[in-house]
Amino acid sequence: MTNKTLLYRVTPHDPSGHRLSIRLQIDAPDPQGQVLFLPAWIPGSYLIRDFSRQIESIQAHHNEQTVTLHKIDNHRWKCAPCNGPLTISYVVYAWDLSVRGAHFDESHAFLNGTSIFLGVEGQTQMPCLVEYCPPPHTDTWKVYTSLPEATGHPDAAKRHGFGMYQAPDYDALLDHPVEMGTPQVIHFDACGVPHEMVFTGVAPNVDLERIATDTKKICEAQIALFEPETKTVPFLDSSDRYVFMTMVTGNDYGGLEHRASTALMIGRDKLPVTGQTPGPGYQDFLGLISHEYFHTWNVKRIKPQAFAPYRYTEENFTRLLWVFEGFTSYYDDAMLARSGVISQQAYLDRLGKVISHVRRGAGRLKQSVADSSFDAWTRFYKQDENSPNALVSYYTKGALVALGLDITLRQSTNGERSLDDVMRLLWQRYGKSFYQDMDNQSHLQGVAEEGMPALIQEATGVDVGDFIEQYAYKPQDIPLETLLAHDNIQLTWETDPTDNRLDVRLRNDADRCVIATVHEHGVAHDAGLSAGDEIVAVGGLRVHSAKALKQQLRYWQAGDTVELHVFRRDELRCFAVTLKAPEATVGKLSPATPATNE
Ligand code: ZN
Repeated sequence: MTNKTLLYRVTPHDPSGHRLSIRLQIDAPDPQGQVLFLPAWIPGSYLIRDFSRQIESIQAHHNEQTVTLHKIDNHRWKCAPCNGPLTISYVVYAWDLSVRGAHFDESHAFLNGTSIFLGVEGQTQMPCLVEYCPPPHTDTWKVYTSLPEATGHPDAAKRHGFGMYQAPDYDALLDHPVEMGTPQVIHFDACGVPHEMVFTGVAPNVDLERIATDTKKICEAQIALFEPETKTVPFLDSSDRYVFMTMVTGNDYGGLEHRASTALMIGRDKLPVTGQTPGPGYQDFLGLISHEYFHTWNVKRIKPQAFAPYRYTEENFTRLLWVFEGFTSYYDDAMLARSGVISQQAYLDRLGKVISHVRRGAGRLKQSVADSSFDAWTRFYKQDENSPNALVSYYTKGALVALGLDITLRQSTNGERSLDDVMRLLWQRYGKSFYQDMDNQSHLQGVAEEGMPALIQEATGVDVGDFIEQYAYKPQDIPLETLLAHDNIQLTWETDPTDNRLDVRLRNDADRCVIATVHEHGVAHDAGLSAGDEIVAVGGLRVHSAKALKQQLRYWQAGDTVELHVFRRDELRCFAVTLKAPEATVGKLSPATPATNE
């Protein structure tokens, strides 16, 4: 009798060397020779990362006899033919402190499935069991994951315990990362369903109650957006709870979405401290939470066709990330305001920052958000010194496309319809039953590449084909001043008080003032300065920091020409820079009608 399950056992055995040993048991391997693979990328982060390079050693056995296996490409191995159960043993090096990889030391382990679980070709629809085993150096660790316990199995894990967990297929197995250790934890219910928040890393006196209270409001506002009648949470198809896993560090910011959880990294100073008013960075943390939670609907269930299903060993191309990341970026801040965790003016200030970010780069007039989506793998995820001049972000510009669409839809329907109706149609049509349809992959549906205009028309009756063509498929600026005026919001442009007047982005390496990016058509570009140049003097006066540069430049006016000495590599060069009046690139939003006495 064949037990139709793949069994993985994960043991974090070497905390100081950051090594995990993993054993995979395949009951019925391909008799022609089983092929195994490790994902080359992790969904949500569109870059080929070659996770297989962290596998230090790998062996195969059948009945305690060695079965030879060899690499057949960057991500795959093939075993020699064998009849009956095959065991694969391998060691993974886990020392990538990010939301995308695997990280393990004496304090904790955070593991993404894409870094640790070999896929079995031909058996990716098979149910999987995973046994998480404790590390050798401590018995205090607990396990936090949205992956369900293997209820009914004799070695089933208890909640937060080591032991057996289960996934209905390989795709699900990869989509429930795990945090092990002794984190700070708080629980809350949103619309009656449990949510856990887990904080790893040093975070003294962090105000967990405050974070949970605010997060609950954000979650409930999003649930109400997609399911206004039933208030049903989206993730019950995969787990009985949602888990926020946050790594607290000195200065990081980022997140990665999963079907019933998210991995976040945040700088300590963005977290609220008990008994103190939260600093401005706390809004960024709430925005990150809101963003990743929104993905539970938009991209983890409502997907572009290109991700239905994911293909793990190659790029999955789509021109629609402006919908899946852009719309999500529009709603992340909007939901902070709608749930009441930030004020209306704070929302306008955040939106102003997005508008300014888009305006600052000349790349917005060269690349459309559709092309930016398609080229994410080689351009957005491989940014260099010239990226602001060459690329547009499908996050920020995509958020502005969403804003423009939302206003257009409300305006065209006298406020009867909005982008919310579009999200609800996408949810009902593509998202709600996505993981039920996983059983029969030929039924898997995602949004067709050219599908958005028709879907928006269906949801709202409004034809936005031209709007999408111009602002999503062409590199054109969205007429935000006019659009926002319909919402009684005024957009004005101001100069940036922190501007260095050279139209460059600087980076401070120790006591050197180095140009990171030269903005196209700016004064530094006109003068011949380049990224990498170390500015050593302005008008004959020494410069050793961005602050000193600004200090020296105050002696010259717009129209003056000033000599800049720089080291390009180890060669001293001199450039004549003619200063201009600073451009107004900072967008400020305010209510159009000045406040009256009401
Ligand atoms: Zn995102």
